[in-house]
Amino acid sequence: MGEAKTKKGGKKAPSRDEVVLKLRSDPRTEKRFEPKSSPSAILSVLAFSVAAVLVGAGTYGQWLRDEALGPHKAAPYLLAAGAAVLLVTALFGPRPALPIRVGDAGVGVEKGGNEIERIAWNVVRRLVLGDRTLTVEGEGTSIVISLAAMPDAAGKVLREARERIPAKMEDIAAGALENASEGAAETLPLEPAQVAGLKCKASGKLIAFERDARLCGRCGEVYHKDAVPKRCATCDARLK
Ligand SMILES: [Zn+2]
Repeated sequence: MGEAKTKKGGKKAPSRDEVVLKLRSDPRTEKRFEPKSSPSAILSVLAFSVAAVLVGAGTYGQWLRDEALGPHKAAPYLLAAGAAVLLVTALFGPRPALPIRVGDAGVGVEKGGNEIERIAWNVVRRLVLGDRTLTVEGEGTSIVISLAAMPDAAGKVLREARERIPAKMEDIAAGALENASEGAAETLPLEPAQVAGLKCKASGKLIAFERDARLCGRCGEVYHKDAVPKRCATCDARLK
């Protein structure tokens, strides 16, 4: 492989940090990770079921029984207990984890419907790895990934970030998480990046036409074709 890439005239094969500058239309992909059902999520569903039964029985006892019998004495307590369980679960129960996307467009979270909130690699401010979560901080937004529910997604984010934005990973020691498999994740094609109207990171020049845009193949930073620097201003990848 390495030898085949060596050109005639003694030129060196592309080094590891050499990155192909990408056109906007070059294909990009990402992986989609679905959450595992964690024990706490199952408990949450169970609590909702219990509450539903309590409220149902309470409603029957209070209002729907045969008129001759009248409301059951216990009915108000059943209703109150059901309402309390619902409230506590809604307030303190775990939120179900949302599917996570990781790939050429950065890190994304599916917000339901067709809405995907993404943080591109080039706008990642920092990554914070805690005991229970991995947080990807962008400009004004952040995406929190539960390590219990989505260890594969968190591992993929860490691996990709170490490749693409190594400077942001200096504080995070390599751990077992980064060996997590991504076998179960589905690979999806990405739409071409929205670049018209953006400014070139190097020159500040407005990118009026999408054909003028060049993307850093590693972090996704956007440059005008006439102002591509030798090294990516964001991730320091070699571009020329
Ligand atoms: Zn870059």
